[in-house]
Amino acid sequence: MNKLVSIVIPAYNEADNIFVIAESIKKVFSSINYNYEIILVDDGSADHTLEKIKDYASTANNIFFLEFSKNFGHQLAVKAGMDHAFGDCVISMDCDMQHPPELIPDMIAKWEAGYEVVYTIREEDKNLSKGKRSSSSLFYKVLNWLSDIDLEPGAADFRLLDQKVVNVFRNFHENEPFLRGLVKWLGFKQFAIRYHPAARFSGNSKYTLKKMMRLALHGVTSFSIKPLYSAVYLGFILSFASVLYIPYIIYAFVNHVEVSGWASVIMTIVFFGGLQLIILGIIGIYVGKMFMQTKNRPNYIIRSSNIQQK
Ligand code: UDP
Ligand code: MG
Repeated sequence: MNKLVSIVIPAYNEADNIFVIAESIKKVFSSINYNYEIILVDDGSADHTLEKIKDYASTANNIFFLEFSKNFGHQLAVKAGMDHAFGDCVISMDCDMQHPPELIPDMIAKWEAGYEVVYTIREEDKNLSKGKRSSSSLFYKVLNWLSDIDLEPGAADFRLLDQKVVNVFRNFHENEPFLRGLVKWLGFKQFAIRYHPAARFSGNSKYTLKKMMRLALHGVTSFSIKPLYSAVYLGFILSFASVLYIPYIIYAFVNHVEVSGWASVIMTIVFFGGLQLIILGIIGIYVGKMFMQTKNRPNYIIRSSNIQQK
């Protein structure tokens, strides 16, 4: 019996990409001895993505879909796909052909060689806009600096996970999982493959700057409480600085030096007001996360699917 490879593909308004990606995966598998299934997760698309998926699924018996009740985001779409994938290994990849399907045999080969996680790293790419490249490298710098995990710049959501690892993931119920970080954090035997991303086949990137910033902030705050320490450090530094100021005040008092200070007082008030709000905001983010998690809502809601309950 050939082993089964599950391929999880999140799709958000990707109507024109479904056929292309499914066909190119089919082509890749025609030359290797593995069975495969594709699990397409329609993340609340507003276009004809779901219809295209259903059309394609009706022509084959290894194409499955999950339809979300609304847009829950890329990370949860991948998570949902993995929760419903029962292959011997699970590969997650984007819908837009930026993750070359030709890499799949190499990933499988590494898996067969004993690696439980085969992840990919995107090489610097001339096709990508300058803005995207620099924001992506900034993303990893900030993330690594502020958190306790070490992600390689360019780490992509194109990876193979052994069934063992997927089973571990199934028990994760973070309401905003940051998969790249979680996979790194999990451990297991990991191997990185470098690849050159292709250009997006059709449509536009769904990751707006706003979504990227959210992901970055989220990546940091879900992996580290280092930002919380900033309050303590800043407090120490500023208290120490203010102690140094005391001798001057005493000197001025004793010598009846008149200190005029409207501007400096206002500046100090504004500066410290701002600083306190920032720190309060940081604490607020963590409290907010606890609030969201304690409500224990389902992380995603499936509206329809052609996967039988296994
Ligand atoms: N995606 C999704 N939900 C979202 C945003 C994106 O499922 O809210 C999917 C999208 O369809 C694609 C993958 O996530 O398959 C990566 O998105 P995109 O190509 O837009 O990101 P980029 O490659 O520009 O980082
Ligand atoms: Mg893309």
